[in-house]
Amino acid sequence: MNGEKKKKLIKSIKIDVDKCNGCRACEVICSAHHAGPKYSSNNPARSRIRVIRDPLADIYVPVYAGEYAVAECAGRDKYTIDGKEYKECAFCRASCPSRDEFKEPDSGLPLKCDMCEGEDEPLCVKWCLADALVAEEREEEVEEGVAQEELEIGLEALANKYGLQTIMDTVARMSKKD
Ligand code: SF4
Ligand code: SF4
Repeated sequence: MNGEKKKKLIKSIKIDVDKCNGCRACEVICSAHHAGPKYSSNNPARSRIRVIRDPLADIYVPVYAGEYAVAECAGRDKYTIDGKEYKECAFCRASCPSRDEFKEPDSGLPLKCDMCEGEDEPLCVKWCLADALVAEEREEEVEEGVAQEELEIGLEALANKYGLQTIMDTVARMSKKD
């Protein structure tokens, strides 16, 4: 499908696992910012960034939520970097059926980082005093038609998994939040 080319600003967060000390401030501010009403509570289970922790091995990996995955992947690997062994899913950003991260605790719906839309800087970056998180921006050319197609595929996958009524109820509930 050929759509019109359009420039899109891509925002991302560069992560330095060597600087992360596992304080979890990023999880606190993200979940508080996305609470309804805003800042009324904080619950790391609602955070769009999770810190994979193994303190005895000095392993702390902050991972912010990416795309929803319909099925578990088949190509898992353990990684050994600088003498530290990281578990198979440590670097994965997907909300996936095989683990609990990045799922809204009440509805089970997938969570995805929205780069703190409306804020001048991602709040997890602002709150990370260790400078383990750095906001980055770049411009990319995308086809408008493809973006729409991706949205439809994503919605269809969600409807298949959770049922259309659950999706509609969740959207209605979210639209009432401030
Ligand atoms: S706030 Fe920074 S140092 Fe603390 S857990 Fe998050 S990424 Fe790591
Ligand atoms: S950028 Fe905002 S929404 Fe994304 S993980 Fe950080 S605090 Fe959460």
